Amino acid sequence: MTIRTERELYGCFREIDQAEIEAPLERGLPLEVEDVLVWNAGPRAFLIFRDRPGGTIRGIVFHRNGGALPDAVAMCEWCHAVRGHGQVKLLSVATDARHRVGLYLCADLDCLDRLEAPPGPDDLREGLDARARRRRIVERIASFARRRLA
Ligand SMILES: [Zn+2]
Repeated sequence: MTIRTERELYGCFREIDQAEIEAPLERGLPLEVEDVLVWNAGPRAFLIFRDRPGGTIRGIVFHRNGGALPDAVAMCEWCHAVRGHGQVKLLSVATDARHRVGLYLCADLDCLDRLEAPPGPDDLREGLDARARRRRIVERIASFARRRLA
């Protein structure tokens, strides 16, 4: 599916996220969305996805937690990579006007860019090929959105 206008892009996101959205200037429009598309802008990371062909595209705005434990080794909840040096960070998403939910994720949401990379020494090995891992990550994103961003 193709997003052609800023209005269409903003329409993918929830009302609560509208004031935080920054369009992906480097990519520009139109945006071709196969399953997941991410971009970063300062302390925020943006993700738009659809869980199946023909499904509705949804957007999520993440805030990176710049705070404590920068060197803690943590596991990304989506791709299960285990990384230190701030490569896996606590990112948070607004669930309503006063609450946020946090997830440990690859700091730049680049889980899908590293499917072909050899696993790190601490990674959870799931024995799946790149395609199956991609599908699993998209399912985890969709599951998170269903549970927490209704
Ligand atoms: Zn990841």
